[in-house]
Amino acid sequence: MPPPDILVTAALPPFLYDPLKADYRCHDYYVATDKPAFLAAQGGHIRGLVQGGHTPTTPALLAALPKLEIISVFGVGYDGVPVDYCRQRGIKVTNTPDVLTDDVADVALALILMTGRGFVRLDRFVRAGGWLERGPELTTKLGGQKVGILGLGRIGKAIAQRVEALGMAVAYTGRTRQDVPYRFVPDLTALAAESDFLVVASPGGAATRNLVNADVLAALGKKGIVVNIARGSIIDEPALVAALQAGTIKGAGLDVFADEPRVPAALLTMDNVVLLPHVGSATHETRQAMGDLCKANLDAWFRTGKVLTLVPELA
Ligand code: NAP
Repeated sequence: MPPPDILVTAALPPFLYDPLKADYRCHDYYVATDKPAFLAAQGGHIRGLVQGGHTPTTPALLAALPKLEIISVFGVGYDGVPVDYCRQRGIKVTNTPDVLTDDVADVALALILMTGRGFVRLDRFVRAGGWLERGPELTTKLGGQKVGILGLGRIGKAIAQRVEALGMAVAYTGRTRQDVPYRFVPDLTALAAESDFLVVASPGGAATRNLVNADVLAALGKKGIVVNIARGSIIDEPALVAALQAGTIKGAGLDVFADEPRVPAALLTMDNVVLLPHVGSATHETRQAMGDLCKANLDAWFRTGKVLTLVPELA
């Protein structure tokens, strides 16, 4: 039997792509200049698709792949995948949960420390020679402050553990109350109103688009800092920029943006904002583990007809 044909719709790191190419016939869709011609020639053979965490995959693309059996996402977020369409077609969708949880939670903790204690600003202060002229600013003690988490899933819980270790108080919101030692606040605006840090850790996609809107930011108020390690789409980015410009919130720590890698120009000059280039899972160890799991899902499917990490909507 020839190896299954796999459509690759995003650039993959060598530690994933090399083993994939060893076991499958891979087709580099993402570099094809004439995509319709590419699909006309190859689409009929394709049985698997590999994509990045937020690579958009349209129903129109999937319609050109009549034999597609599985989409294996290199990432835990699969907001780029039309899951309802896949359910109708019987296409399996897998992702890479758990293996990246700690690294992403570390980034949230770092953003809380960097924004709350002003560490990035203070680093700039030292480098610019400011310390030679005056003493550093005083910031606010983190212990005792309140962290509100939107989306207390795997990553949200790992963030909760970390901030608890700092002596911070945790509350959360989501669609359901969970059996956890943290207070559930059903309404996001109410959670923002009582939080010093509003940490966004829910999935992206249509259901959460602009959930953190101008009203939520107004409720967070001058005492509050927004931290987003989930998806840029969850925050109304123009409303966030406006709130920061008007000084109606205290600051923001952002690992993700609405139109990556483009970051709103206004944010680049703000001293109370810390910006990271979507590095939640960006360690050698975690990316390797994600790559291994991404391929293991394909291997399991084509060898046994089962997958390791089916997304919950299809379970
Ligand atoms: P998870 O375990 O599925 O947790 C998601 C949480 O969000 C759940 O607690 C869920 O609770 C809540 N949620 C889901 N839909 C919601 C909605 N419509 N409104 C409010 N809350 C909702 O996922 P995870 O592994 O923690 O990952 C979370 C997200 O982090 C991923 O989807 C991904 O986009 C992002 N991420 C970012 C990076 C990065 O590099 N920055 C890396 C990895 C992941 P309920 O079901 O009770 O609502």
